[in-house]
Amino acid sequence: MRHLRTRLFFLLAVSLLLCFALGWLFQSMVLRDRLGDYAARELDGRLEASLLALERSNSSEWRTVLGELGKALRCRITVIAPDGNVLVDSEADAATLENHRSRPEVQAALAEGRGSDTRYSQSVKKNMLYVARSVPVHGEALVVRTAFPLALLRDVLSAGRLSLGAALLLAAAASLFLGALFLRQLVQPIQALVKAVNKGGPISLPPLPVRPSAEVQELALALKNMAERNEQILQQLQEERTYLERILASLPVGVLVVNREGKIRYENPPLGKLLRMPSQKGHPFQGVLRSPELVELLEDALRGRDGTCNVVLREEQRFLLAQAVSVAGGAIAVLQDMTERHLLEESRKAFVADAGHELQTPLTIIRAAAELLLEEGSSENQRPYLERILEQQERISALMDDLLLLSRLDSGTAVPLDLTEEVDLAELCRVAREAAALHPLAEHLEWEVDLPESAPFAGWSEGLLRCVTNLLDNAVKYTAGRFEANPGGKISLRMVRDDLLPAWRIVVADNGIGIPEAMRHHIFERFRRGDASRVRNGKAKGGYGLGLAIVKRMAELHGGSVLLEDSDEGAAFTIVLPDPPSGASQREEAAERG
Ligand code: ADP
Repeated sequence: MRHLRTRLFFLLAVSLLLCFALGWLFQSMVLRDRLGDYAARELDGRLEASLLALERSNSSEWRTVLGELGKALRCRITVIAPDGNVLVDSEADAATLENHRSRPEVQAALAEGRGSDTRYSQSVKKNMLYVARSVPVHGEALVVRTAFPLALLRDVLSAGRLSLGAALLLAAAASLFLGALFLRQLVQPIQALVKAVNKGGPISLPPLPVRPSAEVQELALALKNMAERNEQILQQLQEERTYLERILASLPVGVLVVNREGKIRYENPPLGKLLRMPSQKGHPFQGVLRSPELVELLEDALRGRDGTCNVVLREEQRFLLAQAVSVAGGAIAVLQDMTERHLLEESRKAFVADAGHELQTPLTIIRAAAELLLEEGSSENQRPYLERILEQQERISALMDDLLLLSRLDSGTAVPLDLTEEVDLAELCRVAREAAALHPLAEHLEWEVDLPESAPFAGWSEGLLRCVTNLLDNAVKYTAGRFEANPGGKISLRMVRDDLLPAWRIVVADNGIGIPEAMRHHIFERFRRGDASRVRNGKAKGGYGLGLAIVKRMAELHGGSVLLEDSDEGAAFTIVLPDPPSGASQREEAAERG
């Protein structure tokens, strides 16, 4: 019963059946009651006629008179004495009849003057309807009773019921027929609409034999409007899609979209050029992409972990930066060609290393020559110039040293590979502090030193010393730069144990000129220098912006990091050095990255 028409028809049939059955039941009950009343009234009338006959005849004629009257009136007439003895009966011999005093109609007639009853008569062997009255006949109180067989009533009742049932059935059939017709008219336009919607295209009601109802016409109109709106939306979506595809095609990066099942859903043309492969739409990316890093990155993104990785295509000599993010229904990877930047970086590193090496010899010769001239053959006028030459040579040598160290850190050369030298970080900090305190600008500065007795660590002592020295030198320079020879300049060197990581934390803080907000995010980048005008003391001029880059690289080499803390005044840096063995593995990773 899936169809509306069947359901409605069934509902109609059930309700009609129920209505008609109840109507029939009710009507037949009414008919039965009315017939009963009518029969009782009829018997009353016959009883009256019997009384007249009894009054007009004497008791010896009663038997004959009542017998004939009973036949004529088609009823049984009985005369009963108050003690229950049957005096006369129109259909039976009174002498053979038992005492009738216990009969309900007789009892009622004796008590109330009238009574009636329906029951099976043992005397005439039929179901009978009795009406009895207590009346005086020839001055004697007698009970006169009339009765006729119920079968007569039943026949009338059955005939009535039959004709009523037939009429109701006819009405039900007619109603069902009309209902089915109506349902057909209701459903036919809906079916026609469904057909039109399924067919696609413009929605309209085809010409139908019957005019559809107003509701169906409204439905057709609503569907038509909806279809038009959908058409517009689809068109807009199509335009958006083309627009997006054009944008994606004109991007200088490759875009790859995969679905949850790992199949390539979209790839923009630059991707094919980057990966040197034809369109692989619909294929699983694992079988198509040659770079295991890229495959892993996409697999991670499909598991909900976004990430970035470098992709090296050795055969094509290409270096790509890939970024993958998980999206609803899959993942998107964006690939950027870093080849040029990579090669540039490589040649920059090579240049720095080569230039550093090449410049070392001339710088040493300049220094030796200037020193020789200072010691031996210079006049008083020449001395300041020679001292300037030495000073500048020192600056250039320091810069070269920093550049070479950074380039060695980057390439991993000239750095102890195992980093397992035993270092007492506390002692190392004390040495660095003492050296910094000898700085000409440190004369008026106050020191706060809080170091543990000892802080055992495994690493590269020279590199670590360089880290702390760089931070302390900066603290001296930029605190003296604020206070000059005035009191108030303070530097604190603290070392704390972080049991959570576990790691050592070396904190260098000062109340110097501080670091402007705009610089904070780039402070550890190479050649990043602050505004020299912020330093009041001319002597406190900075270096070339490599000191903090070295600190960062060195901390990373040891599996740690350097942080610029938030501080109300001055600057505060923390070097975090995690303990081996976790540190060792991180260092290996750091060394690999380098
Ligand atoms: P530089 O050799 O120029 O000091 P660094 O890499 O050590 O190079 O520092 C980069 C810049 O960071 C500096 O030019 C300076 O502006 C800022 N800086 C570093 N340390 C401090 C500090 N303790 N207080 C204020 N500014 C600092």
